[in-house]
Amino acid sequence: MSTPPSIGVFALQGDVREHLRVLTDLGVDAFTVRRPEELARCDALVLPGGESTTMYKLARSFDLFEPLASRIKAGMPTFGTCAGMIMLADRLEDGIAGQETLGGLDITVRRNAFGRQVDSFEGDIAFDGFESPVHAIFIRAPWVESAGSEVETLATIPSGEAAGRVVAVRQGNLMATSFHPEVGGDNRIHRYFVELVQKS
Ligand code: GLN
Repeated sequence: MSTPPSIGVFALQGDVREHLRVLTDLGVDAFTVRRPEELARCDALVLPGGESTTMYKLARSFDLFEPLASRIKAGMPTFGTCAGMIMLADRLEDGIAGQETLGGLDITVRRNAFGRQVDSFEGDIAFDGFESPVHAIFIRAPWVESAGSEVETLATIPSGEAAGRVVAVRQGNLMATSFHPEVGGDNRIHRYFVELVQKS
């Protein structure tokens, strides 16, 4: 792997710029991925927040779907936020008819899980290994409905109706959050991912 690592951000849809900024701040060679040639340059990949129902269709039309799925399957470190978590899930609840995911994480994700009343919200949550909580921003977010035994929980909702719901996970080189660490200026979760990439 190159030093600094080359980390692509899937850029057919979603909050690409925010991820690029955080990764660049961390000294990473960060760039957009819209074609298979760009994917080929990646040591690792970020799947941003956005709209998963659009992402999978665009990935299909731009001939990125299969190359992405096979790189992920082959062990490329990948970090998905929100819609990106949905894209990384092996199983999906409340997707639209025919919605496909790239898969990789042995989780079942429920799309738009927090319901209409709490479409968007934010709060401080503990994140595995961090000394202080992260300020997490949720926008029509999914949660992890269930997970296989290889999947490690990194964060859960601390209180309220959704208390205990899993909102950040890791399985080997793959990680995902229901919320948007690319927004809000706290780089620690991206740093966690970059360290994972450097160790891979
Ligand atoms: N609800 C969106 C989806 O289904 C995800 C929202 C987000 O990424 N902020 O893909």
